[in-house]
Amino acid sequence: MKVPAAFLSFVLALYGCGGGGGGGFLPVPAAVVNTAGVDIRDTWKSTDPIATYFGLSGGGNLPQFEGLDASGYSVLGSKNGITYARRMSGPTDTIDIDFTGDSEGYFDSLPDFVRGTIERAGKAWSHRLKDVLGPYQSTDGVVIRKGLDENGQQIPRLVDGILLDFETDYRNPKFKDNPWRGSRGTYRYGQTVGEDFTVRTGWFEVAARSITREPLWFADIAAHEIGHAIGHDMGHEYSPLPETIARYVDVERGVWTGPALTAANGGRNVPFQKERNGEPDLGHLGSCPMSMSYCGRLMAIPHEMDFAYMKDIGYTVADEYPSEPELYSYGAWAKHSAWVVTAARHMSFTTTRITDHIAVEADVYGNPAVTDFAGAHTGTLTWRGSLLATDMEKFAPVFGEAEIVLSTEALEGAVRFLNLRTAVDVEARARLTGWRKSGLAYDVTVEENGFTDSDGKVVGGFYGPSHEEAAGVLDDRAEKILGAFGGRR
Ligand SMILES: [Zn+2]
Repeated sequence: MKVPAAFLSFVLALYGCGGGGGGGFLPVPAAVVNTAGVDIRDTWKSTDPIATYFGLSGGGNLPQFEGLDASGYSVLGSKNGITYARRMSGPTDTIDIDFTGDSEGYFDSLPDFVRGTIERAGKAWSHRLKDVLGPYQSTDGVVIRKGLDENGQQIPRLVDGILLDFETDYRNPKFKDNPWRGSRGTYRYGQTVGEDFTVRTGWFEVAARSITREPLWFADIAAHEIGHAIGHDMGHEYSPLPETIARYVDVERGVWTGPALTAANGGRNVPFQKERNGEPDLGHLGSCPMSMSYCGRLMAIPHEMDFAYMKDIGYTVADEYPSEPELYSYGAWAKHSAWVVTAARHMSFTTTRITDHIAVEADVYGNPAVTDFAGAHTGTLTWRGSLLATDMEKFAPVFGEAEIVLSTEALEGAVRFLNLRTAVDVEARARLTGWRKSGLAYDVTVEENGFTDSDGKVVGGFYGPSHEEAAGVLDDRAEKILGAFGGRR
């Protein structure tokens, strides 16, 4: 395949249909529908995996290459003459709501549409909640299922946000003969820490009959039960109410007196929903537009009044949903070239629908070689560097060593990616683990000042006045990997 000359100075690959600009936000149609609600934050937010993988140390300067706006990147460190950086933007600093199955492993085995709806319902809350919660060691029933260590001590579970236990009878052999009648949820009082109300763990259950009824019904119930699990419960059955909630419960008048919700309700206290017998239902507020009532119409997202309640109990609430995508990007550069991979989760929230897409982009920037490669060198040349990629099935980052070996006479050779590793979320920590394959290799031929394999999965170019660097894009749909690579001779 002939490499178009334009590709040599600026290589761009896009998963989905074409278009898009270097480093800019991708239009949603160019992205993949995130059916399973994959939370890219789980594997992209921590820079531990990339720093560990490449053994990064020290600082470095941001590069200046045409088309690359490096201003948003923070340098992570350098190794072997290559500097690495990370960029993060959009709603990456909202409260992280994570889910764990009540039956260990069961959550992960649920079909994509179930997990996706639960994950999106969590984001429908968390994208508006701005508090930064540090690591926290959970010490409740969630721990017990993790078992005991060799000394008989409970193994604590690290929580880096809010961890919610989710259980359902949907296709669950445990409840095969006893289908649930309804859904429910609440926070764990013992896990409420801080001066203001800060839940660290809660639990909720969604009945199979709510999951299978219709998508909006399921989304509504999921948002509602998660609302209970992160703080919307004023009649906590088993323990005294947290002070931040108790102070606004007026049982005699049957109203919530919190200032934010009262203001959102036009200056009137919102009454509790009434039970059938006329008694106040202290688990629900009765303003029907609220997701936390059960007298209104179906809604995929909480109402402004639901967020006002969250404000009353101590959360920091953003005024609106963020318009930018949740974006994470890794970049690496030597002297003449830079290679970048970016993953972004675009979500939009309306009362009837939450859309959810992931866009991945790989780019190369730099100063292309000015002299033709053919005839400029003798023997076999090797460039060594790195691969920064994304797994297109799990949307986690993939790191690798890159090796470009070319015969200057035959004008052919190979591009190899070795020691491939990815990140997984284990106990609220992104950790390195093996990727599906330990390596990938592509036979390439040199064309003008670039190189490519016969299928165009690898497209690269030479950078620097005398081809000191080589960099390119890997887009292998069969192996489900998209990334950018580069190396020094
Ligand atoms: Zn409820």
